[in-house]
Amino acid sequence: MDSKSLAVRENYKRIASEIAEAAVKNGRKPEDVSFMAVTKTVDPVYVNEAIDCGIRLLGENRVQEWQSKREAYRDGVPVDFIGALQTNKVKYLMGQIRLIHSVDRLSLAQEIEKQAEKHGIVQDILLEVNIGGEDSKSGTAPADLAALLAQVKTFPHVRVRGLMTIPPPCSDDRYLAAMEELFLRTKENDPEQMQILSMGMSDDYAAAVLHGSTLVRVGSALFGARDYSR
Ligand SMILES: *Cc1c(COP(=O)(O)O)cnc(C)c1O
Repeated sequence: MDSKSLAVRENYKRIASEIAEAAVKNGRKPEDVSFMAVTKTVDPVYVNEAIDCGIRLLGENRVQEWQSKREAYRDGVPVDFIGALQTNKVKYLMGQIRLIHSVDRLSLAQEIEKQAEKHGIVQDILLEVNIGGEDSKSGTAPADLAALLAQVKTFPHVRVRGLMTIPPPCSDDRYLAAMEELFLRTKENDPEQMQILSMGMSDDYAAAVLHGSTLVRVGSALFGARDYSR
């Protein structure tokens, strides 16, 4: 086994136990939190290594990269789409993707509805929230979430399962707390739609679980720093 495979094994064990510990501290069970491996730029060899360790969910950012790598992944591990999504790419995801995390606008939800109907499926999605109000980030403004949810809820081929966020880098947990609050508030009116809170990445997965995250998306802490030159 090469040194990078060994590193993935060690990283997996450490992160999984930190997630489990945070879940218990938060009054939940370890299995209540999904540990997603984010695969962008990662060689499929190491993605499969993570699957061998126990990873049961993959996160893909780019349609083309996923299409070029998917055949090389071990069978049977569900794939979520977490990247910015252009409406003209939606059709490539239909029937292939467990959950689309990055639905940040009505036009995208409408396209998913259209394509899902065409394929005879109901597509599970999350609504992405720009909790830090950053210009550079996608996601709906917290103030616009209720209106977006009210509309998407009426779509027969789209099922809203929860919220996703990429908070700004921050030395404290204020954005995680704000997102937790928004999720719980939204859940009061729409308990059925608010099952999943996709929050937490390499730098903040444990803190995110302490703030109610049910799904953490981990890339570099698991696979090492990304090499975008590939
Ligand atoms: C890349 C990416 C991640 C993982 O980032 P790391 O900091 O490497 O863990 C999580 N979520 C999304 C949407 C990403 O694009």
